[in-house]
Amino acid sequence: MSAQRLEFLQQLNQNSFDLLIIGGGVTGAGIALDAAARGLKTALVEKRDFASGTSSKSTKLIHGGLRYLKQFEIGLVREVGRERAIVHRLAPHLVKSEKMLLPIIRGGTYNRLASSIGLWLYDFLAGVRGNDRRRMLTRQQALQQEPLLRKEDLMGGGLYAEYRTDDARLTIENIKTAVRHGAVCVNYAKAGHFLYQKGRIAGCTVTDHFTGEQTAVKASCTVNAAGPWVDDLRQIDHPVKGKHLFLSKGVHIVVPAERLPLRQAVYFDVPGGRMLFAIPRQRATYIGTTDTAFKGDPNQVFAQKDEVEYLLAGANAMFPDAGLTLNDVESSWAGLRPLIYEEGKSPGEMSRKDEIFISQTGLISIAGGKLTGYRKMAERVVNLVSEQLKKEHGRTTGPCLTAKIPLSSTPFRDAGEVAVFQESLLKRTRNLQLPDHYAVYLCENFGRDANSILEKVNAAEVPAELSLLENELSYCLEHEFVMKPADFFERRTGRLYFNLPSVREHLDFVLRIFQRKFAWDEGRFRQEKNAMLALIDHVSRF
Ligand code: FAD
Repeated sequence: MSAQRLEFLQQLNQNSFDLLIIGGGVTGAGIALDAAARGLKTALVEKRDFASGTSSKSTKLIHGGLRYLKQFEIGLVREVGRERAIVHRLAPHLVKSEKMLLPIIRGGTYNRLASSIGLWLYDFLAGVRGNDRRRMLTRQQALQQEPLLRKEDLMGGGLYAEYRTDDARLTIENIKTAVRHGAVCVNYAKAGHFLYQKGRIAGCTVTDHFTGEQTAVKASCTVNAAGPWVDDLRQIDHPVKGKHLFLSKGVHIVVPAERLPLRQAVYFDVPGGRMLFAIPRQRATYIGTTDTAFKGDPNQVFAQKDEVEYLLAGANAMFPDAGLTLNDVESSWAGLRPLIYEEGKSPGEMSRKDEIFISQTGLISIAGGKLTGYRKMAERVVNLVSEQLKKEHGRTTGPCLTAKIPLSSTPFRDAGEVAVFQESLLKRTRNLQLPDHYAVYLCENFGRDANSILEKVNAAEVPAELSLLENELSYCLEHEFVMKPADFFERRTGRLYFNLPSVREHLDFVLRIFQRKFAWDEGRFRQEKNAMLALIDHVSRF
């Protein structure tokens, strides 16, 4: 794939595109797939790694957002609620159904009646049917469902359907699928200045992070999907007037499963009126999130000690037997919500709806929105691109096709097939004496391609865990545009968050493979190692 990246860089230089997208988060990736599938000659540039912005820092839920009901965002809840089932169908190994437990606490945000009506409405808007519909639980049933809940003041619970995913993997699968449909997607390629023709946007300059070389990329339409950086690019095009972005920071922490062994994902009240998620995942449980105004450098966003302590206090209030402390926090992540500013509202009250701005030069910018709604957001943007192409270049484009394009080259039919496949992986990982959580990990990250990764594991010369790591890496280097160690540890595998001990333990082993692949000298090796050690520090030391 690094060879493919070089070829793509050349194509950026030599071709003229129908559409150029700036930003390789889930929004940009979704737009690239939609446009390429409609037959548009499409390019996407991402200044760092794909999904390195907000799209690897979310709560990793494909959800309608129960709390938006309280803010009467009925349209948003309906749209993203319905999208859940579609995205699940497109990638059932990656977007998995997960029941969420809402404990009802005396004096909490939702009493029994409000929970019952709210969850019914939530299901109704999302079109949830049959056994997936919400079920109200007595106190006893809630405790059976999750024995670690605080018993004091617990009145019962509501159990309802959500989906969980991995945001960075969802982004990379969109990128890979877009590439299969002919899109040219390049990471570590930064958009600089715009090109104009007769006062209309005609592409932009792009700089390769590794060589510093600059290219002028020509395109009939340009979309700015730069997430928290959307206004920076709007500003380069034209002074931003009227609506603008507001960045709200959200932090998550990860503890080992044995320190918070939840049976079940929980969405719960914390003192002070906010609500948090606690979600079990493979060998860990993660807790989040905060929602506070952010003023610093959006390229450097990490959890601070007071934010970690806030989440620990919230978790301890709901799961007092766990008695979590700072020492239990294995890893963390922090991201920025690119919200549309609303006068007089707190970060938590501002709408999560997406908005599209079209500048007088024709730059289309999209901001706000949710991971869950990326496909519909992409459809709206590509519809506008089609209008521009028709009006300005006389081209006609077909309708959106992405509701039927699986996000895998070897897709599963449904969740049942995924479960059978995962079971077969479990047998093989057990034969290799790997911990059981690896079967889920491999299935969720790589889908059916986990087969080819496991096939090559050879435990004769090195321990199985190392051989697995080596084969995961060679898969990601070959198929997933990995250029730096963090691309692999953080965004292709999630190990930086959910299995940090394995990263610490095998860092040198993995870096030596990078060194061979990219012919790094010892100086570059040390530089990359220091960068990884600094990243590990940022996510784990407070
Ligand atoms: P980003 O992912 O930030 O992508 C923008 C990209 O543009 C970046 O990768 C950046 O490097 C690139 N870029 C910037 N400038 C340039 C340039 N000059 N040249 C090239 N590239 C450039 N949504 C849900 O549905 N479910 C959730 O559970 C959920 N939880 C969340 C929790 C938190 C804490 C946060 C912060 C958000 C959450 N969201 C959730 C919202 C969701 O994560 C975002 O809506 C989504 O990831 C935004 O994606 P994006 O592509 O617009 O932005």
